[in-house]
Amino acid sequence: MILDGNPVAERVLAEVRAGVARVRERHGVAPTLAVLLLGNDPASGLYVRSKKRMAASVGITSPDYVYPEGLDRAALLDLIDRLNADRTVHGILPQLPLPKGIDEDEVIARIAPEKDVDGIHPVNMGRLLGGQPAVLPCTPSGCMEILDHYGAKLEGAEAVMIGRSRIVGKPLAQLLLARHATVTMCHTRTRDLADHTRRADVLCVAVGRAGLVTADMVKPGAWVVDVGNTRLPSGQWVGDVDFPGVSHVAHVTPVPGGVGPMTRAMLLRNTVLAAERQLGGGLR
Ligand code: NAP
Repeated sequence: MILDGNPVAERVLAEVRAGVARVRERHGVAPTLAVLLLGNDPASGLYVRSKKRMAASVGITSPDYVYPEGLDRAALLDLIDRLNADRTVHGILPQLPLPKGIDEDEVIARIAPEKDVDGIHPVNMGRLLGGQPAVLPCTPSGCMEILDHYGAKLEGAEAVMIGRSRIVGKPLAQLLLARHATVTMCHTRTRDLADHTRRADVLCVAVGRAGLVTADMVKPGAWVVDVGNTRLPSGQWVGDVDFPGVSHVAHVTPVPGGVGPMTRAMLLRNTVLAAERQLGGGLR
């Protein structure tokens, strides 16, 4: 089975549209996501434009704060303080990576946890680890939505996570653990990667190396979620999983069209949830 992310994202976006309508009706305002873009990295510019387009399509307002020349530390922290205090802004999204020389950890930690729609503020990460999640990181929660939508059984499953980044691998492993999977985390120092992946009923891969996972590394019938996103010299985008080979033996997300649309949809869902929490009267 091809685990197409688009219909799952459409379902989430339908919920988001309903949430936006609820917020407008109860509070007379639109959920609002402030997007910060520092520097002139073309890929970051592209991601920001695509997020803003998607936000507009569901009725979320997304004022942008674009500084092609960058901002110095004091000005950036001051901007975040102002957005934290601004009651008309419900989510703050600095496009990562921030330009060299800026301490990303400091910037993330400065955002009010309730406005951290990426779910990577230390408070939100800590709550996830403590089993009391408030804001879930977008890509990991999007992966879980895909697995649930297509009916993967997680309780008691052997789950293997390749990659241990703050934004994907670590939180996704926690979400799988919370659903009672037995989770193994792999990384560059893992001795025999294939030995682990072949045991996996659920295999999630967030590395950034095209074609790392081949069909002989995958258990037949496994659920494979490919987070990787690499642009080949030909211009084609591919994942970490050798899709043509692995799709013959396992259920797998395509790249593009798998996890990518889910990440954007979950960001918008987090924005609506943040608005409802801050304005009061939300469902959650
Ligand atoms: P990252 O911070 O670069 O982390 C990569 C992880 O992969 C690290 O933990 C690294 O191990 C591990 N790794 C690297 N080579 C490996 C190998 N040969 N065997 C086993 N593990 C290996 O990456 P990230 O931010 O999580 O992103 C990963 C990929 O997902 C990238 O392609 C990124 O573009 C993509 N991504 C996609 C979305 C989406 O929405 N589709 C969202 C986020 C990221 P060490 O810790 O030992 O170095």
